[in-house]
Amino acid sequence: MASAHEDFIPVASAASSLAGIACETNTGLETVPLSRETSFAYWQQDIPREYWDLDARQLVDRVAEARRKLGRRLIVLGHHYQREDIIQFADFRGDSFKLAQWAAQHPESEFIVFCGVHFMAEAADILSAPHQKVVLPNMAAGCSMADMADPEDVYACWEELEEAGIAGKVVPVTYMNSAASLKAFCGRHNGIVCTSSNATAVLKWAFERGEKVLFFPDQHLGRNTGAKMGIPLDRMSLWNYNQPFGSLGGMTLEELERSRVILWQGHCSVHQRFTVDQINAARAKYPDIHVVVHPECRYEVVQAADSNGSTEFIARTITEAPPGSKFAVGTEINLVSRLAHENPDKLVFCLDPVVCPCSTMYRIHPAYLAWTVEELAAGRIVNQVRVDEETARYAKIALDRMLTVV
Ligand code: SF4
Repeated sequence: MASAHEDFIPVASAASSLAGIACETNTGLETVPLSRETSFAYWQQDIPREYWDLDARQLVDRVAEARRKLGRRLIVLGHHYQREDIIQFADFRGDSFKLAQWAAQHPESEFIVFCGVHFMAEAADILSAPHQKVVLPNMAAGCSMADMADPEDVYACWEELEEAGIAGKVVPVTYMNSAASLKAFCGRHNGIVCTSSNATAVLKWAFERGEKVLFFPDQHLGRNTGAKMGIPLDRMSLWNYNQPFGSLGGMTLEELERSRVILWQGHCSVHQRFTVDQINAARAKYPDIHVVVHPECRYEVVQAADSNGSTEFIARTITEAPPGSKFAVGTEINLVSRLAHENPDKLVFCLDPVVCPCSTMYRIHPAYLAWTVEELAAGRIVNQVRVDEETARYAKIALDRMLTVV
């Protein structure tokens, strides 16, 4: 069986189900004190009591004062899915690809406070210089999709592929949304990391080096990218990681041998909510609507949409469109709300009428940011994300490959 591992932190799983029913859509800059948010839960209370009841003004002032003390030693990165009252503090915002590039190219900042989720902070730690410290304001900000690829399960899958005599033909590709140890696994096995910005180029890179690809953890991004490259659906199989060891992920050996892409059975709970019915409803109401979705959506949704791509692609598509354009968007609500706000001359709305933000991204409340930057200003580092040297060395191989494939 696969070897034991110590470095996998299932940061999202413990409270995902609780948070999913209690998160709020935040479209303005008003911050509700942490203790008064309906999503305030046991996993958020791991922060000094003095931060629980600070209001928006107090939080803005305290973050500003800490930043004044730290000056250019500190940089704050914000992922597109962060709430508006966090994005207001971001020096740089982008998708995971852009933010990873940023971390690799800016050794001048001593502290990188990463307002995103755990796997992004890990990638920033791996790609940044040794003297830089990466801080994640709330350690419970994880990704439920990343948690669907437990490294133990992936190692076991690879062992099964080896026993079946197939592993030698397979290039492992992990989506950025995965634990550092899985990126290291790809580094060790001639594989690579991809993001939704460069998934097609990465699959092309992989097929230049092997007959098959093992793609994890997001089945939808893998399937949508494979289909875009002309791979028939019946040559893309699904590895069910819940099957017992030895059962080839629920497939026959013939199915596996026929597969060009072996898809891990993971998904994003936010993007899997979008449906073809929602697209039809948007088109019935606005016949000239442009439907743009993220490739983490299901295959049939991506097929029915007018265009699909990363959050950077979605933002560019809307921002560069002529005034009067109409967009129905299939991605996380904080980004959709921000794009609607920043493009008042266009109609921009979310495909899903009953939306909820990514509940784990949402865990970065300004109180956490205030706490972490004030600690830094006082000479203490809290919530530092550190990847061990051995894991980082191999993960960097796969991440560096990713950064060169565009
Ligand atoms: S939107 Fe989906 S993939 Fe992105 S961090 Fe949230 S759960 Fe993970």
